[in-house]
Amino acid sequence: MHHRTGIILLVSGPSGSGKTTLCRRLADEGEAVYSTSCTTRPAREGEVDGHDYHFLSREDFEKRIAADQFIEHAEVHGNLYGTLKSEVIDHVTAGTDVVMDIDVQGADLVRACPEANIRNALVELFVMPPSEEELRARLTGRGTDAADVIELRMTNAIEEMSHWPKYTYRLISRTREEDYSRFKALLEAERLRISRLTPEA
Ligand code: 5GP
Repeated sequence: MHHRTGIILLVSGPSGSGKTTLCRRLADEGEAVYSTSCTTRPAREGEVDGHDYHFLSREDFEKRIAADQFIEHAEVHGNLYGTLKSEVIDHVTAGTDVVMDIDVQGADLVRACPEANIRNALVELFVMPPSEEELRARLTGRGTDAADVIELRMTNAIEEMSHWPKYTYRLISRTREEDYSRFKALLEAERLRISRLTPEA
């Protein structure tokens, strides 16, 4: 028999691309564990600490950086965001797939990470909306942020989208169902890779 190591499915894309919905659904269906990030931004209405994010003070976040608890961390829209090693490494070793929703800077850092077991487990996907107009409509439609915040996110999104060529896979969003089925197909195919198998001792 062979043991399969877990996949780290790293998903980036601008806010409004639908990537968080895709990642959450994968986790809700038990296909992967969601890597809950840390952030210093305040929780939005309805967000739950420990589920959507670990909401930390800047001081607590900086202590964890000093203690080398993060695989990567980055400043996004003026707040710190980071992925804890504890959310990822043990799962991957045990053969559980992990999905992480991180920005383009975070992705650069994970790609360059010194731990080969993390790099080897990585599958990188960029999710983007079909057009700028559609992105604007989605950012406005969410109704959770003020107009100036939406404009800032539009500017950031356009810059963020320019990074897609660094990823292995790209998904241009259509409907929720089509997007999810293509996302799931990618994971299923990656699970078949022989390079992820090691003979059981
Ligand atoms: P939001 O504040 O809208 O939840 O997320 C803002 C951005 O931060 C998104 O692009 C999201 O992918 C990114 N982000 C969330 N968690 C992490 C993380 O752990 N590391 C990095 N680098 N970015 C993250």
